[in-house]
Amino acid sequence: MTDLDHLSRMNACFLGPRSENEAWLRSEMQAILDSWFGWRRDLFPNDPEAIPYDERVSVPFLQQRERLARQITRLTDILRDEVPKHTPRYIGHMVSEMSMPALLGHFSALLHNPNNTSKEVSKVTSVLEAEAIAALASMVGYGPAEACGHFTSGGTVANFEAIWRARFRLDHWLSLALYLAEEHSVPLDVFASAHMGWKRYFELVALYGVDETKTRHYSLVASNPFEAASLISAHAGSPYKGPVVLVPGNKHFSWLKGVSVFGFGERAFWTVPLDAAGRTDVTALADLLNKAEKEGRPVLMVVSVAGTTEAGEVDPVDRVQDLLDERKAARGHDIWHHVDAAYGGFFASLLGGAAENLLVPEVRAALSALGRVQSITLDPHKLGYVPYSCGAFLARDREAYSVSSFHAPYLDRADLGASVWAYTLEGSRSAAGATAVWLTSEAIGFGPEGFGEIIASTIENCRLFAATLAASLPFVRPLRPLDTNILCFNLAEPGMSLTEANRRTEAVFRKFVASPHFSVSKTSLSLESYEKLIAAHMAEIGGAVDAEAMVLLRCVFMNPFWANAEVRAQLVPAFVEELAAHYSGVSGAGFAPMPHGGKLLGCVDIDEAVTARPSHL
Ligand SMILES: *Cc1c(COP(=O)(O)O)cnc(C)c1O
Repeated sequence: MTDLDHLSRMNACFLGPRSENEAWLRSEMQAILDSWFGWRRDLFPNDPEAIPYDERVSVPFLQQRERLARQITRLTDILRDEVPKHTPRYIGHMVSEMSMPALLGHFSALLHNPNNTSKEVSKVTSVLEAEAIAALASMVGYGPAEACGHFTSGGTVANFEAIWRARFRLDHWLSLALYLAEEHSVPLDVFASAHMGWKRYFELVALYGVDETKTRHYSLVASNPFEAASLISAHAGSPYKGPVVLVPGNKHFSWLKGVSVFGFGERAFWTVPLDAAGRTDVTALADLLNKAEKEGRPVLMVVSVAGTTEAGEVDPVDRVQDLLDERKAARGHDIWHHVDAAYGGFFASLLGGAAENLLVPEVRAALSALGRVQSITLDPHKLGYVPYSCGAFLARDREAYSVSSFHAPYLDRADLGASVWAYTLEGSRSAAGATAVWLTSEAIGFGPEGFGEIIASTIENCRLFAATLAASLPFVRPLRPLDTNILCFNLAEPGMSLTEANRRTEAVFRKFVASPHFSVSKTSLSLESYEKLIAAHMAEIGGAVDAEAMVLLRCVFMNPFWANAEVRAQLVPAFVEELAAHYSGVSGAGFAPMPHGGKLLGCVDIDEAVTARPSHL
């Protein structure tokens, strides 16, 4: 396969920024509509027409028809002012062009309007959902036959699904121990019992002949949580403060929502410090696990993030899981590990192909370990190029997927297929997202030869852009390491303080907002979470860290069309020029890009580009 073959294949997956594939997409949409019209027409061919011809030409009918036509024209006119996210000039948030398979899959399902809450109303699409989940499971390294999951309205709800299940599991283990303490005088070790593992759980159930309806009384979920907590306190000899959730400082906002929605209270939220690369600091995580154990506070779950919302960093999933495995072997504590891979899960499609070498070793190791964790959040409506709303929750096996009001997970297994609604937080669920993912999987495939090529090119495009920017404009200070395809940078002269850099970066962002040419976004990393990363970044600039946060311009390189050399040749210099002009306006000094600005560098490393700059810059 040559690079050009890759490019051609990729170009056959998207409509194109200027509707290049219009004729083809039109004919596919027409084919879908034809089939749908025909299906309706022919299903019960002897039934009467409910809307006869004379009706369809009556005055009130035609008036109504005209009214709709007028409003459709109005709507399509209004929509021309919508944010144009398909163009490569849009590098703002985590959204871009939809793929054609995803769009067509979504559209097909929409016409049939199935509700995947139950097979009774989605005979076909609930099967497609299971197949699409299996395809995503294979992509992240789960065994597709063992893995379970479902589509959600997004990453937020998928994260909630994980909290729900982790709580179910912890509650089972703890309430059994509490029952044994109350009724069999078995001493209660809160931390150990809350992490006892299913094997130990069933041993104890068998040993004491426990009837599960009895342990229900001691559940913090199914019974009265306040009564159960005071019973735990009485047996433990110290006040029970409830479980903690360990989430890295680079977390998405949804984790705060989740802890609040499930009623754990914000002080159950323990933030894991980050290292100088903005990734989970595993040593700090180990310290927090020790602290939780010492304080008798069970760990509901440890969360890692693969592809952070701010800068696309990937936490060391492998090393976090190693740590949890070691602790399980040494102390018998079974702790839930969830990976919020809403954005970054799709980078796993590179694994096993030549392009996996594009990933820095830490990121490759982290993504390769996804298959070892309990559960994963994915957002097909981000890097899956699927229309909104489409998130996915995946669990490694049925055990991790189990949730119910109060039943042993094994007892429910037979029901799993039929009563999907019992296993999802959401009730009615559109099949559109599932079908979009299914068609993507069938038409492109989530392996390195299919989707992996697209995702790999977004990383290359981001690096090319970053290197050219850094080489052309000395005041551009890219955040490093660049783990994936999100480039964050601030604007600063040598020795400039963080406060002044923030002011300039903020002001340039406002100029981008006011200008129609490119859409970028802005983010702000707090010193509280990103202390080491900010220190390293500012050390390079040589400026004081005199602010509580670092403001960054953020460019998300999801758009597949940056892979086109002509697009790059025109748009990269245009961006460099626009940024230079904005910066001149803000800094008060005239500024021209450096001589090689405007020319495209080869795919050089961003670190090389930065270090190759003359030292006085
Ligand atoms: C986007 C995102 C979410 C939330 O997903 P929604 O689909 O917006 O609900 C959660 N975590 C991470 C890391 C994300 O990037």
